[in-house]
Amino acid sequence: MNDNCLTDMNYIKSLCGRHNFALSKGFGQNFIVNPGICPKIAEAAGIDETYGVLEIGPGIGVLTKELALRAKKVVAIEIDERLPALLAESLDGFTNVKLIMGDVLKLDLRKIISEEFGGLKVAVCANLPYYITSPIVMKLLEEKLPLEHITVMVQKEAAQRISAQPGTRDAGAISLAVRYYAQPKLLFTVQAGSFFPPPKVTSAVIQLVINRQPAVETPNETQFFKLIRAAFCQRRKTAQNSISAGMGVPKAQIAAALEQIGQNPLARPEQLTLEDFCGLQKALFAQKG
Ligand code: SAM
Repeated sequence: MNDNCLTDMNYIKSLCGRHNFALSKGFGQNFIVNPGICPKIAEAAGIDETYGVLEIGPGIGVLTKELALRAKKVVAIEIDERLPALLAESLDGFTNVKLIMGDVLKLDLRKIISEEFGGLKVAVCANLPYYITSPIVMKLLEEKLPLEHITVMVQKEAAQRISAQPGTRDAGAISLAVRYYAQPKLLFTVQAGSFFPPPKVTSAVIQLVINRQPAVETPNETQFFKLIRAAFCQRRKTAQNSISAGMGVPKAQIAAALEQIGQNPLARPEQLTLEDFCGLQKALFAQKG
């Protein structure tokens, strides 16, 4: 097993130098160099040998290594074609890691999970590329993949938005969408100095424990999320105004539906819970299904 230290700047620089590798801003490459962080993430994720772990963006393998030390198997998905050469060196000796090259947003994750992790519990654990945090999180949830939980590092503001309680000020369309599929929790924050190069933002690790059943029973999922997105499209407006504009429903009808579900007709979208949106959908579109 390779006992190099992937958080040692001298080692990182010599590894990158040997492979003529310069970090790419475009791929959101900020590697973890604080030696305490990756073990903390892997422990917080609760990974042990009963798990197969899907990692998104291994970089030079600093988190991959901690996951591989605990899990039965790690499958790491990486987009940057230059990284396999570095990973072959940094993860030399780890026989339970498989690298799959490609864009996580385009790959068939259900197929990968069924082919790679037969019989194992499956978790996602990653330091995500921040430029596509929401699309990745939503892909993992919307595809209803057979996952136990998702533990990911994201930008702190994204963490707050994702884990915000619906009905509170920080809530957005993504908070509601996430809670439909999972129970989110902000685990801890990570300062910019823990990365190379340091990003301009503070980071945070969140965990989403997947719901066995969606949090509410909607008559039509696609329409439900369209309604939520419409409500939050113009954040500073009332839900009534935004939904009317986005869904082509007269304002009076929306005001009546809000009253019918016991809400203020002038409520702002962030004041509405998943149950409110579900009730609103049923009140507005009952006949249309
Ligand atoms: N896990 C490493 C660490 O913590 O040091 C690297 C994390 S870095 C923030 C994000 C990683 O995601 C990079 O390795 C980057 O190349 C990769 N990445 C960016 N976009 C991707 C995509 N669409 N699909 C798969 N990997 C991607």
